[in-house]
Amino acid sequence: MRTIDIAIIGAGPAGLTAALYAARARASTVVFEQGIPGGQIVTTDWVENYPGFPKGLSGQELGDLMLAQAEEFGAEVQSFTAVTSIKPADLDFIVTTSEDEEFLAKSVIIATGAIPKKLGVPGEAEFTGRGVSWCATCDGALFKDKVVSVVGGGDAAVEEALFLTKFASRVHLIHRRDELRATKCIQERCFANEKIEMQLSRTVKEIQGADGKVSGTLLASTSGEEDLLLPLDGVFIFVGIDPVNTTAIDLVELDEKGYIKIDHDGRTNWPGLFAAGDVTDSELKQVITAAAKGASAAFEALRFIDEKVCSI
Ligand SMILES: Cc1cc2nc3c(=O)[nH]c(=O)nc-3n(C[C@H](O)[C@H](O)[C@H](O)COP(=O)(O)OP(=O)(O)OC[C@H]3O[C@@H](n4cnc5c(N)ncnc54)[C@H](O)[C@@H]3O)c2cc1C
Repeated sequence: MRTIDIAIIGAGPAGLTAALYAARARASTVVFEQGIPGGQIVTTDWVENYPGFPKGLSGQELGDLMLAQAEEFGAEVQSFTAVTSIKPADLDFIVTTSEDEEFLAKSVIIATGAIPKKLGVPGEAEFTGRGVSWCATCDGALFKDKVVSVVGGGDAAVEEALFLTKFASRVHLIHRRDELRATKCIQERCFANEKIEMQLSRTVKEIQGADGKVSGTLLASTSGEEDLLLPLDGVFIFVGIDPVNTTAIDLVELDEKGYIKIDHDGRTNWPGLFAAGDVTDSELKQVITAAAKGASAAFEALRFIDEKVCSI
Protein backbone atom coordinates (compact mmCIF):
# COMPACT_ATOMS: atom_id res chain seq x y z
CA MET A 1 0.00 0.00 0.00
CA ARG A 2 1.33 3.43 -0.95
CA THR A 3 1.52 6.07 1.81
CA ILE A 4 0.71 9.67 0.90
CA ASP A 5 -0.02 12.86 2.80
CA ILE A 6 -3.25 14.00 1.16
CA ALA A 7 -5.75 12.15 -1.01
CA ILE A 8 -8.14 14.36 -2.94
CA ILE A 9 -11.27 12.84 -4.42
CA GLY A 10 -12.42 14.66 -7.56
CA ALA A 11 -10.55 16.89 -10.01
CA GLY A 12 -13.04 19.72 -10.43
CA PRO A 13 -12.22 23.31 -9.42
CA ALA A 14 -12.38 22.42 -5.68
CA GLY A 15 -10.14 19.34 -5.93
CA LEU A 16 -7.62 20.92 -8.31
CA THR A 17 -7.29 24.05 -6.17
CA ALA A 18 -6.86 21.92 -3.04
CA ALA A 19 -4.18 19.97 -4.94
CA LEU A 20 -2.39 23.18 -5.92
CA TYR A 21 -2.25 24.38 -2.30
CA ALA A 22 -1.28 20.96 -0.88
CA ALA A 23 1.42 20.20 -3.46
CA ARG A 24 2.84 23.71 -3.22
CA ALA A 25 3.29 23.08 0.52
CA ARG A 26 5.31 19.98 -0.47
CA ALA A 27 2.74 17.48 0.78
CA SER A 28 2.63 14.32 -1.31
CA THR A 29 -0.72 14.76 -3.00
CA VAL A 30 -2.73 12.44 -5.21
CA VAL A 31 -5.97 13.51 -6.91
CA PHE A 32 -8.32 10.76 -8.01
CA GLU A 33 -10.72 11.58 -10.85
CA GLN A 34 -13.24 9.10 -12.15
CA GLY A 35 -13.42 10.79 -15.57
CA ILE A 36 -11.40 13.53 -17.19
CA PRO A 37 -10.19 16.36 -14.92
CA GLY A 38 -12.04 19.68 -14.86
CA GLY A 39 -15.38 18.79 -13.30
CA GLN A 40 -18.76 20.19 -14.33
CA ILE A 41 -17.27 23.35 -15.75
CA VAL A 42 -15.89 21.52 -18.79
CA THR A 43 -19.50 20.96 -19.87
CA THR A 44 -20.08 24.68 -20.32
CA ASP A 45 -19.05 26.69 -23.34
CA TRP A 46 -18.10 29.97 -21.74
CA VAL A 47 -17.23 31.13 -18.20
CA GLU A 48 -17.38 34.89 -17.85
CA ASN A 49 -17.44 35.31 -14.07
CA TYR A 50 -14.07 33.89 -13.01
CA PRO A 51 -11.86 36.79 -11.86
CA GLY A 52 -8.76 37.51 -13.88
CA PHE A 53 -10.36 36.60 -17.22
CA PRO A 54 -12.37 39.73 -18.12
CA LYS A 55 -13.20 38.46 -21.60
CA GLY A 56 -14.12 35.01 -20.24
CA LEU A 57 -12.76 31.65 -21.34
CA SER A 58 -14.15 28.24 -22.20
CA GLY A 59 -14.94 25.86 -19.35
CA GLN A 60 -12.54 23.33 -20.87
CA GLU A 61 -9.75 25.91 -21.00
CA LEU A 62 -10.30 26.88 -17.35
CA GLY A 63 -10.26 23.21 -16.31
CA ASP A 64 -7.08 22.58 -18.30
CA LEU A 65 -5.36 25.60 -16.72
CA MET A 66 -6.28 24.48 -13.20
CA LEU A 67 -5.00 20.98 -13.93
CA ALA A 68 -1.71 22.26 -15.39
CA GLN A 69 -1.13 24.54 -12.40
CA ALA A 70 -1.74 21.76 -9.83
CA GLU A 71 0.56 19.39 -11.73
CA GLU A 72 3.20 22.10 -12.12
CA PHE A 73 3.55 22.14 -8.32
CA GLY A 74 3.83 18.35 -8.14
CA ALA A 75 0.31 17.07 -7.56
CA GLU A 76 -0.28 13.64 -9.11
CA VAL A 77 -3.61 13.40 -10.90
CA GLN A 78 -4.96 9.94 -11.66
CA SER A 79 -7.67 10.24 -14.33
CA PHE A 80 -10.31 7.57 -14.94
CA THR A 81 -9.75 6.33 -11.40
CA ALA A 82 -12.76 6.44 -9.10
CA VAL A 83 -12.46 6.22 -5.35
CA THR A 84 -14.72 3.42 -4.22
CA SER A 85 -14.22 3.73 -0.45
CA ILE A 86 -12.57 5.73 2.30
CA LYS A 87 -12.02 3.83 5.55
CA PRO A 88 -10.47 5.12 8.78
CA ALA A 89 -7.27 3.29 9.84
CA ASP A 90 -6.12 4.53 13.26
CA LEU A 91 -5.55 8.23 12.64
CA ASP A 92 -5.16 7.78 8.85
CA PHE A 93 -7.45 6.67 6.02
CA ILE A 94 -7.33 3.81 3.53
CA VAL A 95 -8.49 5.04 0.14
CA THR A 96 -9.46 2.30 -2.32
CA THR A 97 -9.78 2.95 -6.03
CA SER A 98 -11.58 1.36 -8.97
CA GLU A 99 -8.15 0.06 -10.05
CA ASP A 100 -8.13 -2.00 -6.82
CA GLU A 101 -5.26 0.03 -5.47
CA GLU A 102 -5.06 1.12 -1.85
CA PHE A 103 -3.48 4.32 -0.53
CA LEU A 104 -2.78 5.13 3.11
CA ALA A 105 -3.50 8.87 3.40
CA LYS A 106 -2.91 11.09 6.41
CA SER A 107 -5.80 13.28 5.39
CA VAL A 108 -8.54 13.16 2.74
CA ILE A 109 -10.36 15.97 0.95
CA ILE A 110 -13.69 15.07 -0.63
CA ALA A 111 -14.34 17.24 -3.70
CA THR A 112 -16.70 14.97 -5.60
CA GLY A 113 -18.98 17.80 -6.68
CA ALA A 114 -22.45 17.31 -8.04
CA ILE A 115 -24.35 15.95 -11.00
CA PRO A 116 -27.28 17.53 -12.83
CA LYS A 117 -30.74 16.70 -11.52
CA LYS A 118 -33.16 14.72 -13.63
CA LEU A 119 -36.74 15.77 -14.31
CA GLY A 120 -38.14 12.34 -13.55
CA VAL A 121 -40.79 12.51 -16.30
CA PRO A 122 -41.83 9.84 -18.81
CA GLY A 123 -39.54 9.76 -21.85
CA GLU A 124 -36.51 11.30 -20.09
CA ALA A 125 -34.63 8.05 -19.53
CA GLU A 126 -35.82 6.49 -22.79
CA PHE A 127 -34.56 9.37 -24.95
CA THR A 128 -31.35 10.20 -23.06
CA GLY A 129 -28.64 10.48 -25.73
CA ARG A 130 -31.39 10.51 -28.38
CA GLY A 131 -32.43 14.12 -27.99
CA VAL A 132 -32.33 14.49 -24.19
CA SER A 133 -29.09 16.01 -22.91
CA TRP A 134 -27.52 17.71 -19.89
CA CYS A 135 -24.61 19.21 -21.84
CA ALA A 136 -25.14 21.91 -24.47
CA THR A 137 -21.39 22.16 -25.17
CA CYS A 138 -21.17 18.44 -25.89
CA ASP A 139 -24.36 18.04 -27.92
CA GLY A 140 -25.43 21.51 -29.13
CA ALA A 141 -23.83 21.17 -32.56
CA LEU A 142 -26.01 18.13 -33.29
CA PHE A 143 -29.04 20.45 -33.38
CA LYS A 144 -28.08 22.74 -36.26
CA ASP A 145 -31.24 24.44 -37.63
CA LYS A 146 -33.40 22.34 -35.32
CA VAL A 147 -35.82 23.31 -32.57
CA VAL A 148 -34.79 22.56 -29.00
CA SER A 149 -35.95 23.36 -25.49
CA VAL A 150 -34.00 24.21 -22.39
CA VAL A 151 -35.60 23.41 -19.04
CA GLY A 152 -34.67 25.64 -16.08
CA GLY A 153 -34.51 29.31 -15.15
CA GLY A 154 -31.18 29.77 -13.37
CA ASP A 155 -27.83 31.00 -14.70
CA ALA A 156 -26.78 27.65 -16.18
CA ALA A 157 -30.10 27.18 -18.03
CA VAL A 158 -30.19 30.65 -19.52
CA GLU A 159 -26.50 30.67 -20.48
CA GLU A 160 -26.83 27.30 -22.16
CA ALA A 161 -30.00 28.48 -23.97
CA LEU A 162 -27.99 31.43 -25.33
CA PHE A 163 -25.21 29.07 -26.39
CA LEU A 164 -27.68 26.81 -28.19
CA THR A 165 -28.92 29.71 -30.34
CA LYS A 166 -25.61 29.40 -32.20
CA PHE A 167 -26.94 26.17 -33.69
CA ALA A 168 -30.67 25.78 -33.22
CA SER A 169 -33.25 27.74 -35.22
CA ARG A 170 -35.41 28.15 -32.10
CA VAL A 171 -34.84 27.59 -28.39
CA HIS A 172 -37.85 27.29 -26.07
CA LEU A 173 -36.88 28.21 -22.52
CA ILE A 174 -39.22 26.37 -20.16
CA HIS A 175 -39.41 27.56 -16.56
CA ARG A 176 -41.95 26.71 -13.90
CA ARG A 177 -42.16 30.23 -12.46
CA ASP A 178 -43.38 33.42 -14.15
CA GLU A 179 -39.90 34.97 -14.02
CA LEU A 180 -36.36 33.68 -14.42
CA ARG A 181 -33.92 33.22 -11.51
CA ALA A 182 -30.82 33.96 -13.60
CA THR A 183 -28.56 36.96 -12.95
CA LYS A 184 -30.07 40.10 -14.50
CA CYS A 185 -27.32 40.69 -17.08
CA ILE A 186 -27.78 37.15 -18.42
CA GLN A 187 -31.57 37.66 -18.53
CA GLU A 188 -31.12 40.86 -20.55
CA ARG A 189 -29.16 38.95 -23.20
CA CYS A 190 -31.77 36.23 -23.22
CA PHE A 191 -34.70 38.65 -23.76
CA ALA A 192 -32.78 40.38 -26.55
CA ASN A 193 -32.22 37.13 -28.44
CA GLU A 194 -34.89 36.60 -31.07
CA LYS A 195 -34.27 32.87 -31.29
CA ILE A 196 -35.32 32.32 -27.66
CA GLU A 197 -39.01 31.85 -26.96
CA MET A 198 -40.10 31.93 -23.32
CA GLN A 199 -42.38 29.24 -21.95
CA LEU A 200 -42.89 30.63 -18.45
CA SER A 201 -45.14 29.08 -15.79
CA ARG A 202 -44.73 25.73 -17.53
CA THR A 203 -43.34 22.37 -16.45
CA VAL A 204 -42.46 19.35 -18.56
CA LYS A 205 -45.08 16.63 -18.19
CA GLU A 206 -43.67 14.21 -20.75
CA ILE A 207 -40.93 13.97 -23.35
CA GLN A 208 -42.36 12.37 -26.44
CA GLY A 209 -40.54 10.54 -29.20
CA ALA A 210 -40.90 9.02 -32.63
CA ASP A 211 -38.53 6.70 -34.53
CA GLY A 212 -36.33 6.34 -31.43
CA LYS A 213 -35.68 10.05 -30.91
CA VAL A 214 -37.29 13.07 -29.28
CA SER A 215 -40.22 14.55 -31.21
CA GLY A 216 -41.76 16.90 -28.65
CA THR A 217 -42.45 17.90 -25.06
CA LEU A 218 -45.83 18.04 -23.41
CA LEU A 219 -45.96 21.01 -21.05
CA ALA A 220 -48.27 21.48 -18.09
CA SER A 221 -49.17 24.93 -16.83
CA THR A 222 -48.55 26.24 -13.31
CA SER A 223 -51.01 29.09 -13.92
CA GLY A 224 -54.13 27.19 -14.91
CA GLU A 225 -53.62 27.19 -18.71
CA GLU A 226 -54.18 24.18 -20.97
CA ASP A 227 -51.38 21.66 -21.59
CA LEU A 228 -49.19 22.60 -24.54
CA LEU A 229 -47.43 20.23 -26.95
CA LEU A 230 -44.20 21.65 -28.39
CA PRO A 231 -42.88 19.73 -31.42
CA LEU A 232 -39.06 19.77 -31.19
CA ASP A 233 -35.88 17.76 -31.67
CA GLY A 234 -33.94 18.18 -28.42
CA VAL A 235 -34.43 18.80 -24.71
CA PHE A 236 -31.62 20.21 -22.58
CA ILE A 237 -32.15 19.97 -18.83
CA PHE A 238 -30.61 22.39 -16.28
CA VAL A 239 -32.85 22.23 -13.22
CA GLY A 240 -30.24 22.08 -10.47
CA ILE A 241 -27.78 19.58 -9.07
CA ASP A 242 -27.56 16.65 -6.67
CA PRO A 243 -24.43 16.15 -4.52
CA VAL A 244 -22.16 13.15 -5.21
CA ASN A 245 -21.84 12.10 -1.59
CA THR A 246 -21.31 8.35 -1.66
CA THR A 247 -17.56 8.00 -1.07
CA ALA A 248 -17.65 8.56 2.69
CA ILE A 249 -21.38 8.42 3.33
CA ASP A 250 -20.97 6.32 6.48
CA LEU A 251 -18.40 8.74 7.99
CA VAL A 252 -19.60 12.26 7.31
CA GLU A 253 -22.71 14.11 8.39
CA LEU A 254 -25.02 15.24 5.57
CA ASP A 255 -27.70 17.91 5.52
CA GLU A 256 -31.30 17.08 4.59
CA LYS A 257 -30.51 17.43 0.85
CA GLY A 258 -27.47 15.15 1.03
CA TYR A 259 -24.75 17.82 1.01
CA ILE A 260 -21.75 17.19 3.29
CA LYS A 261 -21.85 19.46 6.31
CA ILE A 262 -18.61 21.41 6.77
CA ASP A 263 -17.50 24.18 9.07
CA HIS A 264 -16.16 27.50 7.84
CA ASP A 265 -12.73 25.97 7.05
CA GLY A 266 -13.86 22.78 5.31
CA ARG A 267 -13.74 20.35 8.26
CA THR A 268 -16.34 17.58 8.28
CA ASN A 269 -17.39 15.95 11.55
CA TRP A 270 -14.64 13.32 11.09
CA PRO A 271 -11.13 14.51 12.10
CA GLY A 272 -8.79 14.53 9.11
CA LEU A 273 -11.61 14.32 6.61
CA PHE A 274 -12.29 17.59 4.78
CA ALA A 275 -14.70 18.53 2.00
CA ALA A 276 -14.98 21.40 -0.49
CA GLY A 277 -17.06 22.62 -3.40
CA ASP A 278 -20.46 21.63 -4.74
CA VAL A 279 -20.65 18.45 -2.61
CA THR A 280 -20.82 20.57 0.55
CA ASP A 281 -23.58 22.58 2.19
CA SER A 282 -21.96 25.91 1.19
CA GLU A 283 -24.55 28.25 -0.28
CA LEU A 284 -23.06 29.50 -3.57
CA LYS A 285 -22.18 26.72 -6.03
CA GLN A 286 -19.73 28.33 -8.47
CA VAL A 287 -16.15 27.85 -9.67
CA ILE A 288 -14.85 30.71 -7.54
CA THR A 289 -16.38 29.35 -4.31
CA ALA A 290 -15.35 25.76 -5.09
CA ALA A 291 -11.77 26.94 -5.66
CA ALA A 292 -11.77 29.06 -2.48
CA LYS A 293 -13.14 26.21 -0.36
CA GLY A 294 -10.63 23.82 -1.93
CA ALA A 295 -7.81 26.13 -0.83
CA SER A 296 -9.20 26.32 2.73
CA ALA A 297 -9.63 22.56 2.96
CA ALA A 298 -6.03 21.98 1.83
CA PHE A 299 -4.73 24.53 4.32
CA GLU A 300 -6.62 22.83 7.15
CA ALA A 301 -5.56 19.34 5.99
CA LEU A 302 -1.90 20.45 6.09
CA ARG A 303 -2.41 21.86 9.57
CA PHE A 304 -4.12 18.64 10.68
CA ILE A 305 -1.15 16.57 9.46
CA ASP A 306 1.36 18.87 11.20
CA GLU A 307 -0.56 18.73 14.48
CA LYS A 308 -0.82 14.94 14.23
CA VAL A 309 2.94 14.62 13.75
CA CYS A 310 3.58 16.94 16.74
CA SER A 311 1.24 14.97 19.00
CA ILE A 312 2.88 11.57 18.27
C1 LIG B 1 -23.82 23.82 -17.43
C2 LIG B 1 -23.10 24.47 -16.28
C3 LIG B 1 -22.62 25.77 -16.42
C4 LIG B 1 -21.95 26.38 -15.37
N1 LIG B 1 -21.47 27.64 -15.55
C5 LIG B 1 -20.75 28.23 -14.57
C6 LIG B 1 -20.19 29.51 -14.74
O1 LIG B 1 -20.32 30.13 -15.82
N2 LIG B 1 -19.47 30.05 -13.73
C7 LIG B 1 -19.28 29.39 -12.53
O2 LIG B 1 -18.61 29.93 -11.65
N3 LIG B 1 -19.81 28.16 -12.33
C8 LIG B 1 -20.55 27.57 -13.30
N4 LIG B 1 -21.09 26.34 -13.10
C9 LIG B 1 -20.94 25.70 -11.76
C10 LIG B 1 -19.54 25.09 -11.59
O3 LIG B 1 -19.25 24.26 -12.71
C11 LIG B 1 -19.47 24.28 -10.30
O4 LIG B 1 -19.86 25.08 -9.21
C12 LIG B 1 -18.05 23.76 -10.04
O5 LIG B 1 -17.62 22.98 -11.12
C13 LIG B 1 -17.99 22.93 -8.75
O6 LIG B 1 -16.70 22.43 -8.62
P1 LIG B 1 -16.38 21.13 -7.72
O7 LIG B 1 -14.93 20.89 -7.87
O8 LIG B 1 -16.94 21.30 -6.37
O9 LIG B 1 -17.23 19.94 -8.36
P2 LIG B 1 -17.29 19.34 -9.83
O10 LIG B 1 -16.98 20.37 -10.84
O11 LIG B 1 -18.61 18.65 -9.88
O12 LIG B 1 -16.11 18.27 -9.85
C14 LIG B 1 -16.19 17.08 -9.10
C15 LIG B 1 -15.33 16.02 -9.76
O13 LIG B 1 -15.28 14.87 -8.90
C16 LIG B 1 -15.31 13.71 -9.71
N5 LIG B 1 -15.77 12.58 -8.89
C17 LIG B 1 -17.00 12.37 -8.34
N6 LIG B 1 -17.02 11.22 -7.63
C18 LIG B 1 -15.79 10.67 -7.72
C19 LIG B 1 -15.18 9.50 -7.21
N7 LIG B 1 -15.85 8.62 -6.43
N8 LIG B 1 -13.88 9.23 -7.50
C20 LIG B 1 -13.17 10.10 -8.29
N9 LIG B 1 -13.70 11.24 -8.82
C21 LIG B 1 -14.98 11.52 -8.53
C22 LIG B 1 -16.27 14.08 -10.84
O14 LIG B 1 -16.04 13.25 -11.97
C23 LIG B 1 -15.89 15.54 -11.09
O15 LIG B 1 -14.89 15.67 -12.08
C24 LIG B 1 -21.76 25.69 -14.14
C25 LIG B 1 -22.23 24.38 -14.00
C26 LIG B 1 -22.89 23.77 -15.07
C27 LIG B 1 -23.38 22.34 -14.92
